[in-house]
Amino acid sequence: MKHIIEAQRAFFNTNHTKPVEFRRAQLETLKSLIQRNETALEEAIDADYGKGRFNTFITELYVVYDEIDVALRQLPDWTRHRPVATDLLNSPGQSYIVPEPLGVSLVIGPWNYPYQLTLTPIVAAIAAGCTVVLKPSELTPHSSGLIARLLREAFDPRFLAVVEGGIPETTALLAEKFDVIFFTGSVPVGKIVYQAAAKHLTPVILELGGKSPAIVEADARLDVAVRRLVWAKFLNAGQTCIAPDYLCVHRSVERQVLDRIAEELARIGYDVASGNYARIVDRRNAARIVGLIEPDKVLLGGEHDVDARIIVPTVVRADWDDAVMQEEIFGPVLPVLVYDTIDDVVDRIKARPKPLALYLFTESEAIKDKVLTEVSFGGGCINDALMHVANGDLPFGGVGDSGTGSYHREAGFRAFSHFKSVLDRPFVDDPDLKYPPHTEEKLAMLKAVTGMTSAAADEAGAGHAR
Ligand code: NAD
Repeated sequence: MKHIIEAQRAFFNTNHTKPVEFRRAQLETLKSLIQRNETALEEAIDADYGKGRFNTFITELYVVYDEIDVALRQLPDWTRHRPVATDLLNSPGQSYIVPEPLGVSLVIGPWNYPYQLTLTPIVAAIAAGCTVVLKPSELTPHSSGLIARLLREAFDPRFLAVVEGGIPETTALLAEKFDVIFFTGSVPVGKIVYQAAAKHLTPVILELGGKSPAIVEADARLDVAVRRLVWAKFLNAGQTCIAPDYLCVHRSVERQVLDRIAEELARIGYDVASGNYARIVDRRNAARIVGLIEPDKVLLGGEHDVDARIIVPTVVRADWDDAVMQEEIFGPVLPVLVYDTIDDVVDRIKARPKPLALYLFTESEAIKDKVLTEVSFGGGCINDALMHVANGDLPFGGVGDSGTGSYHREAGFRAFSHFKSVLDRPFVDDPDLKYPPHTEEKLAMLKAVTGMTSAAADEAGAGHAR
């Protein structure tokens, strides 16, 4: 690992990664690599947890293609020097901001979207002009192994290298000095990464998880709301960082919401064999999720086969103190809580760690305004769920416990860049003002030039003038 990182640092220092044309060429290479191997990529993810071709395309490959295409188009704009105004004190002169790549980056991926969540940060790193060491998840060996093989075949390891492995390998990588670390994964591991980065003062982007609430107000159009919520919750069998973790329903519409969820689940008929539903990633996680289901609280579903890693879509009645409400579920179990006033539910959410996402279903402008003003969360939707992630122009990330920093499109470019502030002056005109001796006249003039003239300074200035 030391050798890989040293080789990348040496390569970065040759400035090869900096020209826009080099970055473009690498992005084109990545795009054609994915295009040529789409079928193999779909098969690998199916071998890992039966995701299905349609879902693999829309939630993994499409997102990466989109990020690459936008970066290819926007790179000249993102990389340009950005002029800002120059103050009178520094005139004549120009001021501008120069984006520069941070350097050697480490990208650590989770297993739940094994292509999107490794390749999208890589696109951002390439666009910014960084080199990359990727550490994909060990829990999806087919997809991670294929990504590793393909990237090794297509890229010079001095520019883009893959280190496979689990905790020991990641721990060893984290002991090394990188110029930026991009981590996607759980909150506890995020803390480990943050601490390791702090030892080297390495900046981090932490894309973490947590419990993302959905709120259905009494005035919501329940048919549309439930359809969107059910899709968002059970996509990837609930193994989505921004899936609605739990559902808060206004008491007056509880019965209708539950009936509609039952209708929607029956209509779709989620089924691993049909390709519209995924398995749980491994037996340990399947057992963990099943452990969160209290049999006497099950409203819908509940059937499971831990050995086959299948849990059917399950809806449970819940209270804020239940075990299912204490940790991120990350599986196809939807707790439903009933509330009487929006104030109650806002207070409950605010008393918990800041969520990665929040979904509010209402047509009331006052309630939208209240929730957006009072509740801090990474990002989210009004009258939809999950789909904010599909708009690449919305920076994606968490806040507080759900993460730090954001990415996608230009936000991704920014995450792997430093913005260097430069004042650029001609040699002509070097006024005496700042140099000793520091006279009262100079002080008065300085205050005038900087616009900081107070009444006293005016008076003093006037006195000196006399
Ligand atoms: P995880 O934290 O267990 O693993 C993520 C990565 O960290 C893996 O590559 C793993 O090998 C490594 N890792 C695990 N334990 C480690 C340790 N002790 N020391 C060093 N490295 C370690 O997460 P996961 O199970 O792969 O993914 C699920 C979690 O990720 C959920 O909490 C989910 O919400 C979150 N997530 C967040 C986003 C986001 O964009 N914010 C996206 C997907 C998943």
